[in-house]
Amino acid sequence: MKILVLNSGSSSIKYQFIDISEGNEPLAKGSVTRIGMKGAILDHKRQDGDSVKIVGEIIDHQAAIEYILAILLSPNHGVIKNREEIEAVGHRVVHGGEEFTDSVEISPEVMNGLHECIELAPLHNPHNIKGIQACQKLLKNIPMVGVFDTVFHHKIPDYAYIYGLPYLLYKRYGIRRYGFHGTSHYYVSQRAALLAEKPISELKMITVHLGNGCSIAAVDGGVSIDTSMGFTPLEGLLMGTRSGDIDAGAVMHIMSREELSLGEINTLLNKHSGLMGISGTSSDMREITEEMEDGNDRSRLAFQVFSYRVKKYIGAYAAAMGGLDVIVFTGGIGENSQQVRKETLSGMQFLSIDIEENLNNSQVSGERKISTESSQVSVYVIPTNEELVIAQETERIINQKNDV
Ligand code: ADP
Repeated sequence: MKILVLNSGSSSIKYQFIDISEGNEPLAKGSVTRIGMKGAILDHKRQDGDSVKIVGEIIDHQAAIEYILAILLSPNHGVIKNREEIEAVGHRVVHGGEEFTDSVEISPEVMNGLHECIELAPLHNPHNIKGIQACQKLLKNIPMVGVFDTVFHHKIPDYAYIYGLPYLLYKRYGIRRYGFHGTSHYYVSQRAALLAEKPISELKMITVHLGNGCSIAAVDGGVSIDTSMGFTPLEGLLMGTRSGDIDAGAVMHIMSREELSLGEINTLLNKHSGLMGISGTSSDMREITEEMEDGNDRSRLAFQVFSYRVKKYIGAYAAAMGGLDVIVFTGGIGENSQQVRKETLSGMQFLSIDIEENLNNSQVSGERKISTESSQVSVYVIPTNEELVIAQETERIINQKNDV
């Protein structure tokens, strides 16, 4: 089945065109960035290495998807001859609330449900919905599936998802932990079980996704039983520009002293905090690490706050699961930063977590084990592949319908 996978953000759309029957490598992939701004860019790569960049005026999500379809159909850079070759579209949807506990084929009722979830994720879901609506106009009669970031975490037990607030607020507004990055935690946990050559049902894993957004999950027997992101993707680990965990009392104090509106505190916590906020210079872990190595003390502090928090969560989740067999690092930082992996796992031999310096430092890319032979906890680096999960889920849901 040939599937177009779309990840629609506020001013960007990432896409992959995958033929599931031909393996996991996308036939083409790319992104449209700066939607609605001057100088929008379509960046397109085909599997054979052909690539093209187009700069133009792309006013909205529908125009962006028209560009994507045009490049997929282009005689010079494309991979299909007509639109009907697209057998299904898989959309990433950030928040599925409590209503969506599985991937789902898009229908009018599902669209209503997605609109209801906007309240839970006002920064993300509206853009996902725009992508779906654009496809409804441009790709009539092609089935579409929504794949949610929250679904993998929907079995988290109530004592791990309820906040210490009046219970009424949970009932009234759905205030609880939902968790995000679910497709990534799912993918790397499945891959790790294959690498460990054990059934996933027998493994206690901690999956550590460190990208611009960062989250960590306790995956017991293949089921997420706790995760660091919460009601929104703001909670938990320190991130590029997001604060992660913070005392709600400090938030109220800052609002009062700085006389900030709701919108302003939202921007402060989501866009000016994290690595950026502490270092004052960058949200990019490569730059933070370079500056730290050049002696910049604020970058050192940002790096240590970041790594220390990952370490704390690993300890907490090992306790939550009553043991630990596997740790997986993924995401741009998890896959590439030997310094963060080393700092995070230093002094963890008491939990029998021991990484081999050479393996950790190796510049080899791709899936690899970095723990010592004697370490009882196996530590892996596994590049994530959320688009592949979205494509596989899309195929599963469409086939399920066809079987009925
Ligand atoms: P997103 O969450 O937007 O998908 P990524 O998973 O690509 O982001 O992760 C982006 C982060 O990965 C940035 O902080 C970037 O600095 C970091 N990163 C990428 N390559 C390296 C590297 N070689 N060493 C350290 N950090 C890296």
